[in-house]
Amino acid sequence: MDPKHTRPETIAAQALGWIDERTRAITPPLHVSSTYLRDADNQYRSGRVYARADNPAFDQAEAVLTALEGGQQTLLFASGMAAATAVFQALAPGDHVIAPKVMYWSLRNWLTTFATAWGLEVELVDMSAAQALQAALRPGRTRLVWVETPANPLWTLTDIAATAQAVHAAGALLAVDSTVATPMLTQPLALGADIVMHAATKYLNGHSDLIAGTLTTRADNEHWQRVRKLRAQLGGTLGSFEAWLLLRGMRTLHLRVRAACDSAQRIAEHFQGHARVAEVLYPGLRGFGGHDIAARQMKGGFGGMLSLRVAAGAQGGEAAAVAVAANTRLWKRATSLGGTESLIEHRASVEGAGTPAPADLLRLSVGIEHVDDLIADLEQALLRAHA
Ligand SMILES: *Cc1c(COP(=O)(O)O)cnc(C)c1O
Repeated sequence: MDPKHTRPETIAAQALGWIDERTRAITPPLHVSSTYLRDADNQYRSGRVYARADNPAFDQAEAVLTALEGGQQTLLFASGMAAATAVFQALAPGDHVIAPKVMYWSLRNWLTTFATAWGLEVELVDMSAAQALQAALRPGRTRLVWVETPANPLWTLTDIAATAQAVHAAGALLAVDSTVATPMLTQPLALGADIVMHAATKYLNGHSDLIAGTLTTRADNEHWQRVRKLRAQLGGTLGSFEAWLLLRGMRTLHLRVRAACDSAQRIAEHFQGHARVAEVLYPGLRGFGGHDIAARQMKGGFGGMLSLRVAAGAQGGEAAAVAVAANTRLWKRATSLGGTESLIEHRASVEGAGTPAPADLLRLSVGIEHVDDLIADLEQALLRAHA
């Protein structure tokens, strides 16, 4: 299949249409070997030496993502965090990097502790305000800007195309955490980003049964070569079975994302203006700050993630939010997102001190169940929490 002339749905469903040349199998065999045979004349013509660096179990999943993102090359990692931290560790101590104030909590935490101690100069800015980024950029000193859009857990939008222009004018690279948007809704590389990152744990795999991360690059440049070397040397490599499962999960990515988008939009509209809900945060709502950017940048839906700020009631917003989560029956109280089952989480409890998440906020990951069941469950939980 020629990925340049094939639609994303077809690329995903057929995993690029690859067949195993030796057996004619339509799904790939599971390669688990840790090492590869050296030729008698001391060469390695297979191109593979040792599975920390080279693993045929990665080839098809990496090729599918490269095609879906419209990039040059993809690397699978042992987790989203392993992928994201490799982007920063491929820089040098002393380099200046910029990241959003509102972003995936564990990565923000790593940036402000380990990355800083390691020598990166990390500056957190409000990425929804173009002037804030412009003021923080130091031409010649800033090496990388990290963006997450829509960003956890307020779903703040960042205009990737405008950001890429500003970042490139300052001589820096732009990396985008596109976990929530997925390649079905947004293609950051086509908008000018240099690297796109996914927690493949989430939508790409989609079944809450593995931890994985990916990076896709627009160009095989020096920074990318260092990222590749880091994966092999630090060993943040994915297991073979996880790569095989990920490829299987991605075959239904388009169907799952579409279902989640449709239901999230319905749920957001249903609870907007609800007596027991103070605010609904969802990029698909017209009144939402960033909706215009989302409408330009996200194609075919606004994602499956939204947050509800629960009305205070007698006991206060935080207690009410925790009580709503405690009273759901279908929505599972768990962290993570992007699986077939819907999840609900009181983010402030997970993030702890210093979190930008309001105390009354519940983060919802909409799965692929019937939307009416999901709405009914939230209705009864809101009712019982405020009783
Ligand atoms: C989950 C997540 C990560 C981290 O991925 P892991 O696979 O858990 O390491 C990074 N960014 C976002 C937006 C995520 O949701």
